[in-house]
Amino acid sequence: MSTFFENTQKLVEEAARIAQVPGDVLARLQKPDKILEFKIQVGSKKFQAWRVQHNNALGLYKGGIRFHPDSNLDEVKALASLMTWKTSLMGLPYGGAKGAVKVDARALSAGELEELSRGYVRAIWQEIGPQKDVPAPDVGTNSQIMDWMTDEYSKLVGHWEPSAFTGKSVEKGGSRGREVATGFGGFVILREFLKFRNSKLEIRNSPPEVAIQGFGNVGSNIAKLLFDNGFRVVAISDSKGALYEEDGIDIPKVLDVKEKTGIIERPRCYAVSSHGETCKQFTNEELLELSVDILIPAALENVINEANTERIKAKVILEMANGPTVSEAEKMLVGRGVEIIPDILANGGGVVGSYFEWLQSLEQKYWGEGDVLKKIDEQLVRAFQTVLEIKNKYNISWRTASFVRAMERVAKAATKL
Ligand code: NAD
Repeated sequence: MSTFFENTQKLVEEAARIAQVPGDVLARLQKPDKILEFKIQVGSKKFQAWRVQHNNALGLYKGGIRFHPDSNLDEVKALASLMTWKTSLMGLPYGGAKGAVKVDARALSAGELEELSRGYVRAIWQEIGPQKDVPAPDVGTNSQIMDWMTDEYSKLVGHWEPSAFTGKSVEKGGSRGREVATGFGGFVILREFLKFRNSKLEIRNSPPEVAIQGFGNVGSNIAKLLFDNGFRVVAISDSKGALYEEDGIDIPKVLDVKEKTGIIERPRCYAVSSHGETCKQFTNEELLELSVDILIPAALENVINEANTERIKAKVILEMANGPTVSEAEKMLVGRGVEIIPDILANGGGVVGSYFEWLQSLEQKYWGEGDVLKKIDEQLVRAFQTVLEIKNKYNISWRTASFVRAMERVAKAATKL
């Protein structure tokens, strides 16, 4: 199986071939501009950390920071590259970057987590900033961590600088709507896709059945929107495993429990039906193979691969996670008529939300949640339409069309440098 970064490089090469990007420009776009590798000391423990700035031809570097025990440089390079293509596809004045710390954040005390977050900023503060590189949350990080990081950065530069990070709490200069932005964006893209496919799509169930892997920021927010809009969410999961409920899961009930306890408590399945629970508990791998209409990976990369492709039964895969499908698996799935809506399109609502937060922080303004979501909706509809035009023009997959569009903008800017 190719690594996540190799997989991303293949997509970039294919897009460059179709967009007729000269070889020397492609070579520049395949290499990260800068790789920062450092260690963060917290008490007696040391943690490996990275920030990769991939490309800034279109504007400042932008991308989240991940705290995860399996993080590694290959992953951060791939995620940073994906950010370059995503910000371009979304029509933003941004480039791409990503950061990570190899850590099981759940094993840290609140004090240690704060120290780790502040330590990350102390290590790289001269390399980031509101006009240089603006980080945001990703797996294992949240608005509290962005608040600590913003505070630490502000202390180092000697003044309050909320536009140095996005994904902050609203109380600390965050944007209304940013917390739900990624899930909301995914819902908008799915809505546009279903409108476009209309009757041509073989949806087996009415309402459509959905399985969602990952119930963090992205998975839980899209689950709630789908639930509110009449989809039947039959399976959800977190790192501990998956739950299945034939009649559908009552997502607000799960969210309520998660808010109070911090976890999806088990054994329970939170059935919508009052006929009692037919709950099944199984693994994250089994969730991916369910016979549902729409599969939403919203946790980690490479989960759909050569080992399980043959058993994937969903007709539509909405990639809310970054890089969940390896290229070999995608070829087989697309060959079987499965529609894969790629990460850089499906989860672009997050960075669009971040862009609006950055603007508000720069101008010291607060917009209402309705305004923010309306703007995200419009921006995503535009991105979807552009991808559709390119898809039809070249008769290519959703993913290739998304990368071609992204490549056209970046390559044009890069050749002017
Ligand atoms: P999160 O930390 O809020 O949630 C991650 C979820 O995945 C949790 O439910 C966790 O239990 C689960 N998980 C962790 N390890 C797992 C494993 N090995 N198997 C199955 N589940 C596992 O993270 P998030 O912000 O929701 O990010 C999820 C995905 O979406 C990532 O791929 C991230 O890069 C991508 N993404 C996030 C944003 C954002 O705004 N947060 C934006 C774009 C893309």
